Amino acid sequence: EERAALASWSGPGATADGKPVRVLANVADGESARSAAGQAPVEGVGLFRTELSFLGRKDEPSVDDQAAIYSEVLEAFKGAGPGDRERYVVIRTLDAGSDKPLAFANMLDEENPALGVRGLRLSFDNPGLLDRQLDAIAAAARATGTETWVMAPMVATVAEAEAFGQEVRDRGLKAGVMIEVPSAALLAHRMLEVVDFLSIGTNDLTQYTMAADRMATDLAHLTDAWQPAVLQLIAITAEAGRQAGKSVGVCGEAAADPLLACALVGMGITSLSMAAAAVRPVGAQLGRVTFDQCEDAAEAALAAHDPMAAREAVRAVLQP
Ligand code: PEP
Ligand code: MG
Repeated sequence: EERAALASWSGPGATADGKPVRVLANVADGESARSAAGQAPVEGVGLFRTELSFLGRKDEPSVDDQAAIYSEVLEAFKGAGPGDRERYVVIRTLDAGSDKPLAFANMLDEENPALGVRGLRLSFDNPGLLDRQLDAIAAAARATGTETWVMAPMVATVAEAEAFGQEVRDRGLKAGVMIEVPSAALLAHRMLEVVDFLSIGTNDLTQYTMAADRMATDLAHLTDAWQPAVLQLIAITAEAGRQAGKSVGVCGEAAADPLLACALVGMGITSLSMAAAAVRPVGAQLGRVTFDQCEDAAEAALAAHDPMAAREAVRAVLQP
């Protein structure tokens, strides 16, 4: 029965009582974008990790080369998706450094690359790098006509969000920032005074909240988005979005967990972006529960003292 429900679910993303939730895919390049777009319920891209297109390169790709790559991804999501909702693509500017170093962008030696010059911080010393990428994104958006949102990774201050938002809006695109650092989550309401949307990267938000390396397998009990402190920061961010009437998505691994996804929606999260293969299970699970149940799940998760208790509490609310 469960399998039949999975196979028959065809979007658009919504709870059983019709509260819309965008279900989006994380992609790395044109090929993964086309593959994701071919899976019927995928309603756009919530995270295009642009740095993954350039991992092997020694030199910065030209604006034209970049525009060609971005156009491939935008092209795959032209026009309307399930339920006639206009599809859109959220492009993340280079998140180079730490677990994703780029030869042309990062310093060779940093004592602590996860706490170093990575993500948006690269543009402090080399503003041209971001300018050229934004020019390429704007050109690709014009060429394809696909709705294009642009966000910055590793934002820690409102001033960074403001400067980035200005650059993006000057090019006629919708601007957002990722919430991956606790400082940014705590100030989500102020971030939303200077940008159009937020997207929570739960992988890094968990790493930086718990002070536990996301790559360290022996710290898996800490690098768990069900940790109460992480859930609190997500709830603060979602509530800021609700108050401002702006979109707040989740694009880390947490969005791919069907039970957690429901609790996130109950907190006020408006879109979930994940590996394309997870879209169907998450969408099907959302379609089985009401928004009231999602709110109860959020409350239960936030009241729990540890990840295991949070999971059990949410399961009890959603699968009584
Ligand atoms: C995250 O940190 O949760 C995220 C989505 O970005 P990445 O995994 O690429 O660091
Ligand atoms: Mg991240």
